[in-house]
Amino acid sequence: MTRLLSVHSVDDPAILEAAAILTAGGLVAFPTETVYGLGADGLNPAAVARIYAAKGRPATNPVILHVDGPASARALTSRWPAEATALAERFWPGSLTLVLPASEQVPAIVRANGPTVALRCPAHPVAQALIKAVGRPLAAPSANRSQHLSPTLAEHVASSLGEGVDLILDGGPTAAGLESTILDLSGARPRILRPGPVAPADLAALLGVVDLWEGAVKPGATQAAPGMAERHYAPRARLELVAPGSGQAAGPGPIAYVAFGHLPPLPDSIRGILLPLDAEAVGTRLFALLHELDDAGFERVVMERPPEGEAWMAVRDRLRRASVKEPV
Ligand code: AMP
Ligand code: MG
Repeated sequence: MTRLLSVHSVDDPAILEAAAILTAGGLVAFPTETVYGLGADGLNPAAVARIYAAKGRPATNPVILHVDGPASARALTSRWPAEATALAERFWPGSLTLVLPASEQVPAIVRANGPTVALRCPAHPVAQALIKAVGRPLAAPSANRSQHLSPTLAEHVASSLGEGVDLILDGGPTAAGLESTILDLSGARPRILRPGPVAPADLAALLGVVDLWEGAVKPGATQAAPGMAERHYAPRARLELVAPGSGQAAGPGPIAYVAFGHLPPLPDSIRGILLPLDAEAVGTRLFALLHELDDAGFERVVMERPPEGEAWMAVRDRLRRASVKEPV
């Protein structure tokens, strides 16, 4: 059985125990404000290799380093532009990851052999306390098997990774529920690689122009960013996206139909689920809902396409990737 410890405050002894495991090269799953992360000492290549093994993550997909603030982040880069200072002041600690040219200190496995490193200072008090207790950056991708649903509860980590983790710190449900916004500052212009809780408009307000990598919103774009696989975040059930209000969900197997704002009439055999027309609330709940539907044994989840508009970009991105069919 994987060990699971509840953390009730930032001076809970569980945090020191977790820090000792990380210092010794072990793996600890911990809560952040986005989703649960699978943490290892980010400067220890053997420890980071254990993350890849536990997740079944391809070596081509780099991991984010979590730090205690801008000074630690800067020390891991070879170039730290003025924009990075401004962004860190405005959005850290928080759900924004910055991609910058890496310093020589960053192990190749963290970068997936690329020239850049992704950095974030998380806002969750348990994540912060853990990083401080270890005194080193923590590599921490989402604590789930590669391509599967991200965990928003400690129980999701236990069921997805099982024995592969030395300790899970349980800090309750995560607040944002979606992975961080990733902004690439290593090129000529700032570019969003993954939409997330920090909205493009908020970034543009600070930076002026921000490009959006088209793969972040459009299907079928070639992989311009490392690790941005088409199929991702997928539940076990087959997820299909349909036009709003269609109620289209015929066929065999237990089916759930998920609508936004209004539930159309459905046959008795289909379980209807109504989500609010509130992008932030849906983001918080989305992965937990898909986990629940998987656990309840639904074979198909038919979901209405979420609304247009920038506020829904991160939810649309996750659902689009989650609905890409498994390669045969
Ligand atoms: P996860 O923490 O599981 O949400 O995954 C982290 C994601 O961050 C990866 O899938 C990559 O797409 C992205 N990432 C990490 N490092 C880099 C990097 N150096 N350059 C671009 N993207 C990165
Ligand atoms: Mg992930």
